[in-house]
Amino acid sequence: MADAQNAVLEQVRQYARETAMLESTQQLLEWDERTYMPPEAGEYRAEQVAYLAGLIHQRHTDPRLGEWLTQLAESPLAAEPHSEAGCTIRQMRREYDKKTKLPESLVKELTRLTVRGQQTWVVARKNNDFAAFAPVLGQIVALKRQEAEALGYEDCIYDALLDTYEPDEKTANVRRVLAALRDDLTPLVQAIAESDRAPKLDILKRIYPAAAQEAFGKEAAARIGFEFPAGRLDVTHHPFCTNVGPRDTRITTRYDERFFPSAFFGILHEAGHGIYDQGLPAEHYGLPPGKYVSLGIHESQSRMWENLVGRSREFWEFFFPAAKKAFSHALDDVSLNEFYFAINDVRPSLIRVEADEATYNLHIIIRFELEQELIEDRLRVNDLPAAWNEKYRQYLGIEPPTDADGVLQDVHWSAGLIGYFPTYSLGNLYAAQLFRQADEDLGNLPQRFALGQFLPLREWLREKIHAQGQRYTAAQLVENITGRPLDHKPLIDYLRKKLGPLYGLD
Ligand code: ZN
Repeated sequence: MADAQNAVLEQVRQYARETAMLESTQQLLEWDERTYMPPEAGEYRAEQVAYLAGLIHQRHTDPRLGEWLTQLAESPLAAEPHSEAGCTIRQMRREYDKKTKLPESLVKELTRLTVRGQQTWVVARKNNDFAAFAPVLGQIVALKRQEAEALGYEDCIYDALLDTYEPDEKTANVRRVLAALRDDLTPLVQAIAESDRAPKLDILKRIYPAAAQEAFGKEAAARIGFEFPAGRLDVTHHPFCTNVGPRDTRITTRYDERFFPSAFFGILHEAGHGIYDQGLPAEHYGLPPGKYVSLGIHESQSRMWENLVGRSREFWEFFFPAAKKAFSHALDDVSLNEFYFAINDVRPSLIRVEADEATYNLHIIIRFELEQELIEDRLRVNDLPAAWNEKYRQYLGIEPPTDADGVLQDVHWSAGLIGYFPTYSLGNLYAAQLFRQADEDLGNLPQRFALGQFLPLREWLREKIHAQGQRYTAAQLVENITGRPLDHKPLIDYLRKKLGPLYGLD
């Protein structure tokens, strides 16, 4: 009996590894499309990717797989949920259920509608014409409601959508933490806006040659522990990180010669994602014990290296001399203090993707609150721009002059991504809570950064998070490591401690 069950488990593992070969091939084709592919290759590439996607979907929903997983779920192999076998069975069963609950007609309709949604959105944003986008957005919201109903939920409909990106997380919990964060963050941001201190931002807008940025960025990424023998850095329009094999992690960036932070902190961010992917157990590649936990945990890794490490004073105590050499024209007359203040500039702004690490969360909270109202049918699509502007007034003290710079700025809703936004702020929250613990466990991390020692932190993250794969949910993982559930305090404490002295707040 036990032998038979072990044989079924091995069959499932082999099946998953083969599916992963198709998936990683698709990833590689998509990486190529966004980096080096000649423009005229697009049409055939779309066919290749669609064909592979079809094969992959068939494999994920194959009834044979469902039968094997049902057998295993009832076997003693599934009894210990955090073991390698228990984790594999639980997570594969979860994915199988999710993928087979959605009727094919709904999946097809959503794909068709979100392609049209994105095309309509591009034009509507360009023309500042929300009315042109509203009808298709209304249809997308209605279909996402159907999707949520098909997937099922216990407490509220938004749970079903959130669960796709942050498995097992609950809306009520995210609402509790983000509301507490909002209430503490709003007065902090307001006090900063009223401060008479401001950094000299022009120093970041001098000329920073792309080649020097690339060399300097690579040096920093390698120093913090991104392994270039198992990865690459290339140029793209919309930076991303992708994993195309157990020892093959590709990060990307774009260089703006007149604004230093965009590529440099972008590289640290993507390297943070990459370090997570490189730290997943290679022997379980394609299986749940070798996969990342959730988007929120993935984002916590990128945000930690980008912000808690990369924007710290100690990081620049180590790197500033090298930066002065690499960008001697731009930084010749700039002091470390001036540079440190400039890269930590905080101010209420309209555009999420350009926001600093403090106000960024308010942008997310606004979207999280509005998309819940939309999906619960408490807010009509036509009333969305007014509701958006009202929240920007309330939380950030500013009002978008146009819908293009307001409710039309993000691609997410047009692409059917509802329930995705909160994972960005979960990433910031997890990052701060985990970093505080790492600092406690390892002892004075910032002083190590000043000496150029970043590997102790990477090794700590590897052991505590990366090596765990999907053995625990994100919430369990954070509670196991820090001894308490997710809390907004570590993030707000970190922001106050850093920004208070810069802006002369009490
Ligand atoms: Zn990210």
